[in-house]
Amino acid sequence: MLASCSEDKSVFPTLTQDVCIGWRIDSAITANPAQFNVLERSKYAAIYSYTEEILQQLLESDGVRNAEAFSWQIRVINDKSVISAFVAPGGYIYLYTGILMALDNEAQLAGLLAHQLAHIDCRHITKMLLRHYDLSTFESIAAGLEQAELDSIIHGLVNGSSTLKYSCSNEHEADSKAMEYLFDTGYDPYELINMYRKLLTCSVVAQFFAIHPWDDGRIENLEAAWKNLGARHGEKYTERYLDFKKSLP
Ligand SMILES: [Zn+2]
Repeated sequence: MLASCSEDKSVFPTLTQDVCIGWRIDSAITANPAQFNVLERSKYAAIYSYTEEILQQLLESDGVRNAEAFSWQIRVINDKSVISAFVAPGGYIYLYTGILMALDNEAQLAGLLAHQLAHIDCRHITKMLLRHYDLSTFESIAAGLEQAELDSIIHGLVNGSSTLKYSCSNEHEADSKAMEYLFDTGYDPYELINMYRKLLTCSVVAQFFAIHPWDDGRIENLEAAWKNLGARHGEKYTERYLDFKKSLP
């Protein structure tokens, strides 16, 4: 059976509020180049078109519920020392050049994007914020009335914290959904598993796993999901991914 996102609608913000709070977080991130050296879209158009084309293929999966409602976009942060990726509500995905360099092929990047997409689409990030703030504070932040809270939210999204990090069940759900999206593309879904194997061998991935907690059952669950969905392989696009890596600043 395919995984479905669970949510308690009675206490949930609207999808529009997710986009609003995401936009506020994104505005604060892009206004802080000293901490987040986001590659300019105009100067690095090819990098954005390459990554967003992969995201677009994933968004066409029937498993994605909020493809239309959210404002999907990628920001690439130029810091090769950071092997990590994080998201903000409403469709914002942040990839460090360090994690892009660490991956071996385009199918692994599709796997990484699929996992991030699932956190947003299942609104794990929204639920995480609601564990930290009550609904009225969430609404005030979305409405721009609580600027001071943005810094601590961004710190938590980027680095993880005791309350601002995904639960293990969020991680398993994001993996199951990611596998489902990948099966709706031509990519090799098994590369999602190899993406994790690759990250686990990197020496400086503490930041990624601080946000996305790892547990020992992860690979087995992913392999079970892959087998359940038909255990197929597909395209890896290794050569053109190597060209893409060479184009990174
Ligand atoms: Zn995660």
